[in-house]
Amino acid sequence: MHTINHYINGGHSAPSQRTQAFFEPATGEQRGTVSLASAVEVAGVIEIAKKAHESWSKVTPLNRSRVLFKFKALVEANMDELAELITREHGKVLDDAKGEIIRGLEVVEFACGIPHLLKGEHTEQVGGGVDAWTLNQSLGVVAGIAPFNFPVMVPMWMFPIAIACGNSFIMKPSEKDPSSVMRMAELLTEAGLPNGVFNVVNGDKEAVDTLLTHKDVQAVSFVGSTPIAEYIYSTASAHGKRVQALGGAKNHMLLMPDADLDQAVGALMGAAYGSAGERCMAISVVLAVGESGDALVEKLLPQIKALKVGNGVTPEMDMGPLISAQHLEKVSNYVETGVNEGAQLLADGRELSVTDHQQGYFLGGCLFDHVTPEMTIYKEEIFGPVLAIVRVKDYSEALQLINDHEFGNGTAIFTQSGEAARHFCHNVQVGMVGVNVPIPVPMAFHSFGGWKRSLFGPLHMHGPDGVRFYTKRKAITARWPQSTNKSAAGTKAEFVMPTMK
Ligand code: NAD
Repeated sequence: MHTINHYINGGHSAPSQRTQAFFEPATGEQRGTVSLASAVEVAGVIEIAKKAHESWSKVTPLNRSRVLFKFKALVEANMDELAELITREHGKVLDDAKGEIIRGLEVVEFACGIPHLLKGEHTEQVGGGVDAWTLNQSLGVVAGIAPFNFPVMVPMWMFPIAIACGNSFIMKPSEKDPSSVMRMAELLTEAGLPNGVFNVVNGDKEAVDTLLTHKDVQAVSFVGSTPIAEYIYSTASAHGKRVQALGGAKNHMLLMPDADLDQAVGALMGAAYGSAGERCMAISVVLAVGESGDALVEKLLPQIKALKVGNGVTPEMDMGPLISAQHLEKVSNYVETGVNEGAQLLADGRELSVTDHQQGYFLGGCLFDHVTPEMTIYKEEIFGPVLAIVRVKDYSEALQLINDHEFGNGTAIFTQSGEAARHFCHNVQVGMVGVNVPIPVPMAFHSFGGWKRSLFGPLHMHGPDGVRFYTKRKAITARWPQSTNKSAAGTKAEFVMPTMK
């Protein structure tokens, strides 16, 4: 049994009074207990982080970047261990866990370029003898709150850029799979990060609420479900903080009749069933245009039935379990609702039995056909291996459906028509768009974020928006008295709005 407490000021802390069990989804066994920090404990960590910020913000960008270079090397050296922690606690297969770490490391690589990224703008001679320039300075103590489904990658969307910009950071991981972030905290210390710059508090609403309302927390990054994202955004904003709160999704693939069907089906299998559908960029709806639906079902169904589902640590599995017994029940209930509302269930993952893991939270791939926009399984995020096919008469109807949906995280069009693809990119009301690419997750040097009820706040995560989010801009306008030109030095009082001459 593992006991996970907090990581404060460069070391592991004592347990909190309240604790919670966490589980290994593939076996259903309790893996350990995680401490739930009290408001007083979190306030203490904020104090430590505030102190650490005073000196960390004065370290040169180059030296901050060097710590991240070392951290990257340490993560690579410990990749197998980190991946196994993810798989044991989340359930995703090992290769997928490694993929998540690599996508997270790309943000570390981006943050290593911080000396370049922090450069301000400079204009010589904005007025007679006057120069102007900008500084990008750190905010102070910033916090991140992460979901269970990417226990390494989502924290890495946040903290590398935040600390590279000179902030100190408090991470609140998901209480369902807390170990991998704790390991990253150890690696940051080993990489030479000064104590108190990166801290982990485990906890629930009490810890989160303290981060959202405490006067010394300057900014909050959140990734999780939409109702909680809305709560985080409204509460932290009302307390004067910068907030970026990324929420849920219902990502549509628009399948045009001219698409390369083999390519589309291959892409769809990974996008719908990879990580058991527990990805915010998973495809959960296919809009099959015209006649494409029948051919799609014919090719898709045998592949869904052939999915290898089992313990993610076993080589060559396609899909692991869901995160918890409660989530398995929730997703299974959605399947039942789909049947009751009249959708045609072509593959029923509830029939799956993983013989050597009877207590694991497994659900096989599910496929619904003839889903309609009024159905619950179309409207709501399921977050499991459940794919819905909606038959639509033409491209315009498909586009309208996507634009009418409350979520706008990701979408993809599969087509051979440049005209259709271009129209789609320009007119779809979604934040991240793929053209013959099923999961269009932007690379680390671009920014990640959805539209509509998939993101609250003006800035996306990582990339240029990440640097903007974690810094405040200062504009300086300077004039030095010139002995050769006294009038330019402004010796006379002026009572009108100053304009540059
Ligand atoms: P969640 O909203 O239940 O939890 C996210 C975090 O919020 C956790 O750290 C949790 O402890 C905390 N939390 C939960 N309830 C809270 C409350 N009442 N008050 C304060 N804090 C609370 O989400 P989850 O189940 O861990 O993750 C899955 C969700 O995350 C899905 O909806 C998925 O779409 C979304 N997600 C979105 C993105 C994105 O980029 N848009 C990425 C990954 C996951």
